[in-house]
Amino acid sequence: MQRVLITGAAGFLGSHLCDRFIKDGFHVIGMDNLITGDLKNIEHLFKHEHFEFYHHDVSKFIHVPGKLDYILHFASPASPIDYLKIPIQTLKVGSLGIHNCLGLARVKKARVMIASTSEVYGDPTVHPQTEAYWGNVNPVGPRGVYDEAKRFQEAMTMAYHTFHGVETRIVRIFNTYGPRMRLNDGRVLPAFIGQALRGEDLTVFGDGSQTRSFCYVDDLVEGIVRLLMSDYAQPVNIGNPDEITISEFAEEIIKLTGTQQKVIYKPLPTDDPKQRRPDITVARQLLGWEPKVNRAEGLKITYDYFKSLSPDDLNKIEHKDFTNYNR
Ligand code: UDP
Repeated sequence: MQRVLITGAAGFLGSHLCDRFIKDGFHVIGMDNLITGDLKNIEHLFKHEHFEFYHHDVSKFIHVPGKLDYILHFASPASPIDYLKIPIQTLKVGSLGIHNCLGLARVKKARVMIASTSEVYGDPTVHPQTEAYWGNVNPVGPRGVYDEAKRFQEAMTMAYHTFHGVETRIVRIFNTYGPRMRLNDGRVLPAFIGQALRGEDLTVFGDGSQTRSFCYVDDLVEGIVRLLMSDYAQPVNIGNPDEITISEFAEEIIKLTGTQQKVIYKPLPTDDPKQRRPDITVARQLLGWEPKVNRAEGLKITYDYFKSLSPDDLNKIEHKDFTNYNR
């Protein structure tokens, strides 16, 4: 039986990956320090004999007994609000965390995949973004802790590949959505749906002309699995090229939810990228992959998930004290 370690297992993407690898017949070892992850996302897997969970911070030395075939490093705060609150942990999980994963991979002769991001392109001056574009990142801005951690992570991964011969895969993930996103993590989709459900106005930042391209989580997971099983060590964009402005997106959520509320405008956060759309030519040619779920279908499933949450979850403002994590 093949064994896979997934860091960030209790998070949005990590938990969907755990589900997929269990379904595909793997022995899955999930790891998470639960700063931003939630055990609710993987609770259903605990009864499974081929699922184990380690409550551990991957930025500290990792020990996993037995063989390992794959390591997927998906642990990281991933919303702009999270990395503003826990900037040091964000830097550590992208640097120390991947160093530990790569060290473990060397010993176990495992293949490593890292979750990189469209944030490596920063506020892009090339549109759409191809893997060949090097990006336009402000290292000392609020997003720098995330963007530079992810860029360092790519460099470290490539160095272990060329210097130590570790098998590595780099997926550059564009905006992804679906069930198990945190309702209050500040990202645009849960923010808008949460506002609609609570009967609040929808907050569009800036003039709403900035664009994003949203990929449904099942499509992303399929792309990830295909890339992992390929023999390609260079970065690959996985995302949905269907681009939309944030204003149009707010209108779509208003229609979907039937809310009577309106859009209100708030200041644009510093260094907020003006446009983002993946060029997925490489994924199409190399992996035969492209997204299958359109936004209307994906949003409906996601809305149904958020509607199924309890009123407590809906009204919960995250009061978690992150002080101890910024060391
Ligand atoms: N955004 C918004 N209202 C919100 C939250 C986000 O208009 O309540 C905007 C944000 O400024 C950005 C886009 O939506 O332009 C996507 O933001 P998100 O935080 O989801 O992810 P990003 O792609 O910026 O990392």
